[in-house]
Amino acid sequence: MSQYKYSTLAVHAGSEPDPLTGAVNVPLYLSSTFELTGVGTDRGWDYSRAGNPTRDRLETALAALEGGFSGHAFTSGMAAITALVAHLHAGDHLICSKDVYGGTARLFNQFIANYGIEIEYVTTDVPEAVEKAIKPNTKLIHLETPSNPLMVLSDIRTISEIAHAKGIEVSVDNTFMSPCLQNPIALGADIVMHSTTKYLNGHSDGIGGALIGSTPEHKERLILVQKAAGGIMSPFECFLVLRGIKTMPLRIKQHEENGQAVAEYLQQHPKVTKLAYPGLKSHPQYDLAMKQQKGFGSMMSFDIGTRENAAKFLGALKIFLNAESLGGVESLASHSATTTHGSVSAEERAEMGITEGRIRLSIGIEDKEDLIDDLDQALAAV
Ligand SMILES: *Cc1c(COP(=O)(O)O)cnc(C)c1O
Repeated sequence: MSQYKYSTLAVHAGSEPDPLTGAVNVPLYLSSTFELTGVGTDRGWDYSRAGNPTRDRLETALAALEGGFSGHAFTSGMAAITALVAHLHAGDHLICSKDVYGGTARLFNQFIANYGIEIEYVTTDVPEAVEKAIKPNTKLIHLETPSNPLMVLSDIRTISEIAHAKGIEVSVDNTFMSPCLQNPIALGADIVMHSTTKYLNGHSDGIGGALIGSTPEHKERLILVQKAAGGIMSPFECFLVLRGIKTMPLRIKQHEENGQAVAEYLQQHPKVTKLAYPGLKSHPQYDLAMKQQKGFGSMMSFDIGTRENAAKFLGALKIFLNAESLGGVESLASHSATTTHGSVSAEERAEMGITEGRIRLSIGIEDKEDLIDDLDQALAAV
């Protein structure tokens, strides 16, 4: 399949007709267990925690879309991150991007740190800071780029080179970009993580996560963690994500066109400050975005001054929904300090630059003029 271009892969990878019936869509195999063919022999499946034919198809598609060796589907993005760090031992050191998804920090700080794993948050937008933070016991560098909600980029290629010279693995949370717009493995990263809840599924109707490894060793490790820890995606969710993937390249085109138009509108608005969107030349890492991304996506954030202004703005929106999450067909607006970063302390948020007036937008695939009109009337209400 890898000889094909992206849109072809999205439609066909993992979606060969069903060998039994010829069904052009992947059947839902709702079976917990599978009849064995003898003692110690089977038809490729024995128990659905270890493997399920519907899940296999999605995992094949995920590996193809990220250019990885194997894909692994989990019950949520957080279950995928839990699986990502499950092989670490007490005494290991983990470096993580500072401006990371709040749920990732909550998992690391409230659970993983209790296992004796040392977690250090580093400004990974500066590769030298990553290099300086590396210790003899560093095992993994986990990057989120662009970050949430400040859209700070980390240079995947440079950091991977630094890490690999010391035998350290690099994982990248690629949720904000989707596999259409950034492929970390091609840039040198070892493992890619996605919350499939977002652009991959794309319709805000399911929760899921994925890890894509780049070597046979990752495949063995990640199959083992799926089987041992059990946070696997259900066949129905796999079906939904696979269905979403077929239209992802089309959706992303519209997300991007709308994203760019909205960013350009917001940039000139007097009530909007500190707009962060990598597709604007004013973004301090525009050149890096051009180099490592295939597009700029449809996530952005800005400051509207105060928490009161944020509440007025969110309350006045008509098309944009005041809701967490991102990457679905509908446009969403959210108040970062009380949603995605609600579990981060006020002092930490202040240090990260996530102010009380920070609004995050996920631009959907509606008509861009309607979206700009909606933002315009809501900004006028502030
Ligand atoms: C949503 C999200 C997650 C968590 O994924 P869930 O599917 O909600 O568990 C992790 N990282 C990023 C960047 C996200 O946006």
